[in-house]
Order: sequence, then C-alpha cells, then structure tokens
Amino acid sequence: MKRVGAVELGGTKAVVGAAVMEGTGRPQSIETVRIPTTTPEETLGRCIETLRELGRRIGGLDAVGVASFGPLQLDPHRPEYGSITRTPKPGWSAAPVRDRFANALDVPVAIDTDVNGGALGEGRWGAAQGLDSHIYVTVGTGIGVGVVVGGRPQHGLVHPEGGHLLVRRDPARDPYAGHCPYHGDCLEGLACGPAIEARVGRPATELADDHPVWDLVGDYLGQMAANLLFALSPQRIVIGGGVGGRPGLLDRVRHHAERRIGGYIDHPALADGLAGFIVPPGLGVEAGLAGALALGWDAP
Ligand code: ZN
Repeated sequence: MKRVGAVELGGTKAVVGAAVMEGTGRPQSIETVRIPTTTPEETLGRCIETLRELGRRIGGLDAVGVASFGPLQLDPHRPEYGSITRTPKPGWSAAPVRDRFANALDVPVAIDTDVNGGALGEGRWGAAQGLDSHIYVTVGTGIGVGVVVGGRPQHGLVHPEGGHLLVRRDPARDPYAGHCPYHGDCLEGLACGPAIEARVGRPATELADDHPVWDLVGDYLGQMAANLLFALSPQRIVIGGGVGGRPGLLDRVRHHAERRIGGYIDHPALADGLAGFIVPPGLGVEAGLAGALALGWDAP
C-alpha cells in the first residue's frame, strides 16, 4: 500500500490528486483539484498546498508523481534534473519543478513529461494494458509522443520529441508550409490544432467531420504511425487529444498508415486495417493524472 500524490502540470492548468494505491491496481477513488497555471511560484505553491491538504485526508503522502509539460531535463545526473529547460512560456524556463515538490514535501518525487505520463497511465490502466511496449500520442495544440518500452517511459539524450518527426508533404495537394518555428512542415507543424486553423482559417473544432483537411491530417498522422512502427516496433499506438479524438480521424490514420507500411511488416496485430494497432485512449482525460499516479507509485 502506498499513499500517492499526483500532479498533472499543464500549460493552462494543473490537476492535483491523491489516492491510496494497493499494488498497481487502479485506485478506487481519487479526489482532484484544478489550479490555473500562472507563474511557477504561484502555481507550484498552490499545488504543494493542495497536495498537503489532500494528503492529510488519507493519512499523509508516501510519494508524489508529477507529469509536466516540457521540455524537461530528465537526466538524473544533471543538477537541473526535473526542471523545465527552455520554454516560450513566460517565467517557466529553468523552473525547478521537481525540486520544489521534493523540498516542500520531503517525500520521493518522480517526474516525467505529461505525454510519457499519459503513456504510462494507458499502459497500466488504459488501452495498452498488459503490453510490454507501446506509444501514446496526443494531438491537440501540439503533438506529443510518449514511448514506453519494457513498462518504462523512454529517455535517452533527452526525451523523445516525436511531434517533430519529419513527414512528406505534397505541395500540390497541401500548399500550407507548416507552422513549426523550427522545422516548418514537421508533423506538428502540419497536423496540430493551430496548423489546421492556420490552413483553413477557422478553428479545427468548428470544422465538419468530412472537411477535406481531415484526410491530410490523417495522412500525416498515418506517416507518423508507420515511422514509429518501423523505428520502435511498438505493440500498439494509442492516439488521443483534442484533435486526435475527432470522430472518424483514427480510421483515416489507420488507412494512411497501412498504405505507408505497404505490406512490409506482416503480423497478426496489424490485421483488420490496423483496428487493433492504432486505438483511442482507454482513460480519456484522466490519462495524465493516472500517469502521474503511476509515476508516484514507481518512485523509489
Ligand atoms: Zn517541428
């Protein structure tokens, strides 16, 4: 048994929760509080107060898991481990997120990116349960790709940045040059919500499900899925997020991924037009907080 505090730290809001966890089973109940993301001092301070309060109600916290927006420094040998690195979000560059929680609460604090947290949560309790390796993709205002291998979120030099995978764009079919400030027409530059809005002049949420732009988005995400399959051989790819959850989009992604795979990989898991390989999330909006709980459970 472990009493775990969890923080999903997002760019616009933080969700804080605490639960008594029995093994790796999904907690029966979890109380959550939402806090707007403002300055690091105010936001992290309120998260810490809330964790103390929620922790008191369950007899104190044994560990805390934090799933945070990034980019994050996740090399434990670096002094700035657990800090945000460089972000356009005012005030948050170099914010020492993990240290703030660890110093204030004096319990083990595990931290990872929000999308790695989501991947961990989907693997433990969602659409990728029981798998050794899977990938979680969230498509919204940006595109995040969380990779789990052997049950652990993957880091290396930094952490995977699959949102910036390079994809093929046919300028005749899609003249939009992309909006990524670093790469122009990388995956995120072409397929995230703001890219869709910039291309068609209206927010993605206002577009009909059969608007032609969805086939383009499906193609780019299909290329991503094929590339992830070729490079990492995941057993499943979970695709969610505000844009990723658009009705009918996953069918387009499966169609284009299958076309791009071109029959090269022959495996029963890829049968039925990739219906069991590219799937929606099992946890919905709770994936991030579930991931933070899983991180907290795994904290040494
Ligand atoms: Zn990019």
